Amino acid sequence: MTRQIFVGGVPMGGGAPVTIQSMTNTRTDDVAATVAQIRRLAAAGCQIVRVAVPDLAAAKAVGAIKEQIDIPLVVDIHFDYKLALECVAAGCDKVRINPGNIGGEDRVRQVADACRQKGIPIRIGVNGGSLEKPILAKYGGVTPEALVESAFGHIRLLEKFGFTDICVSLKSSSVPVTMAAYRLMSKKSDYPLHLGVTETGTPRMGILKSAVGIGGLLALGIGDTMRVSLSADPVEEVYAARDILKAAGVRKDGPELVACPTCGRTRIDLIGLANEVEERLKSVDKPITVAVMGCAVNGPGEASAADVGIAGGVGEGLLFRKGEIVKKVPQEALVDELFALIEEL
Ligand code: SF4
Repeated sequence: MTRQIFVGGVPMGGGAPVTIQSMTNTRTDDVAATVAQIRRLAAAGCQIVRVAVPDLAAAKAVGAIKEQIDIPLVVDIHFDYKLALECVAAGCDKVRINPGNIGGEDRVRQVADACRQKGIPIRIGVNGGSLEKPILAKYGGVTPEALVESAFGHIRLLEKFGFTDICVSLKSSSVPVTMAAYRLMSKKSDYPLHLGVTETGTPRMGILKSAVGIGGLLALGIGDTMRVSLSADPVEEVYAARDILKAAGVRKDGPELVACPTCGRTRIDLIGLANEVEERLKSVDKPITVAVMGCAVNGPGEASAADVGIAGGVGEGLLFRKGEIVKKVPQEALVDELFALIEEL
């Protein structure tokens, strides 16, 4: 088991529930746009949010953003320790910075001391795309061992100044390399692990890569927090993260949709219905199973095992509630009737 740290009030590691993170893609110095996006992310289920801090204007916006949001705020900083100090003073809840890249031990000490004083953890974010040259040369490229060695280099710098309020990520764009790196790290260290596969691309492959990589690790019991990286509206990252947690069997809250694949027996627009139900379930957080089945062969059986369900007929469907037929409903009213039933649960 990993040790536990706190990001704002949110526990990470030590058996705490795996948290969902995302990152804004607004300009951080545009406070209104960033706050609006963070609120959308939080409403979708994001529990910790990260903003890029590339310059002083962004760092100066952190305080104002923090005042207007309800979830912990992480600042993402590359190289510039002064930006980290600025953000810590402004009240951020976590700093993502790699201490080996900030230009000397005195700077590492200053960042470590500032964070310690405020109880702010640091995430060491190792990324396959920016591994140190000597490590790349030693391992002949981005390997799991190379990622882990890089992480330990940064960790030792912080530990040298007595700082252990740390979590670690080891991202690469290769799913097998990422998975092997986290597995290796989890054997060698008990710092909480932030899971992610990086640069996964647009949603179709991105979600698949993240599901295999992050979901596979979660199913092995590895990982304390996660971010799905997609070239998309970040709200999509949060939805994908929720689905991965559910598919990996890690999170049992929220609804689960069971839908049949359709076949030659289907006489109702099952795919349309399933998509509509899935969309509308995004705003439901009850831990229920909802079945959307195409016909009377398997439909009633599956639908009756669910809390609520639909089994299709010819242009109409049966509505089930905990194994009991509630009524027959014309196709156009099925989804509304289903959600009326979900409301009652
Ligand atoms: S539930 Fe019915 S329609 Fe759906 S795949 Fe099974 S047999 Fe086909």
